[in-house]
Amino acid sequence: MIPSYYECGSCRERFEFGFREAYYSLGSGSVEGSLLDVDLLCAPVRPGWCKDCSGVCLVEDIAPLRTFEAAYGAVRQGRSVEYPVATECYEPDTASELVAMYLRWRMSRKHAARALCCGGPNYIFMDDAQPLIKHAECDFGFIEPMVWFSSYCGAGPGVISPANLRLYTSEGELAGLLTWHRREEGRWDVAPAHYPDPASDN
Ligand SMILES: [Zn+2]
Ligand SMILES: [Zn+2]
Repeated sequence: MIPSYYECGSCRERFEFGFREAYYSLGSGSVEGSLLDVDLLCAPVRPGWCKDCSGVCLVEDIAPLRTFEAAYGAVRQGRSVEYPVATECYEPDTASELVAMYLRWRMSRKHAARALCCGGPNYIFMDDAQPLIKHAECDFGFIEPMVWFSSYCGAGPGVISPANLRLYTSEGELAGLLTWHRREEGRWDVAPAHYPDPASDN
């Protein structure tokens, strides 16, 4: 799970996530302009620290292919899984379809996991027991997770204001922002977006 934010245990400096969700575009077409809901897949992520950006960020959580195959086998037998997506709330058929989408994505994915702030490889996961990350400016401070639980009730993202959810290619390249959700049409408006610097590929 993604903590609300991180905080230095000594000086209390706070480290916020720039964004808390990431989506893949699985459609074959371009994402310019708009994208169908059915072509979106929520990226499996873990909290990380990007050494290039000096901050907390989402990092792609890409398990080996056999983990995806095992999850698909489990949901096909009516069991629920936690990864690559928590299927507890879904009907068995929907869960199978969803995990099949993840399996297809994993089979085609070539690029190593990226920090989704800048697309780079210089990250460490923050949800491992070790290592704790020392606050560079502090003698004694370590950066610790702070978790708040909140419930959200409302129209859903992208209805009363642009959601600006980050949209990536299946290889983890930033491709756009999901702005307005046209629910009756089952699609999102997409604004262009790219990583600040071209992340070195391959
Ligand atoms: Zn500190
Ligand atoms: Zn970064």
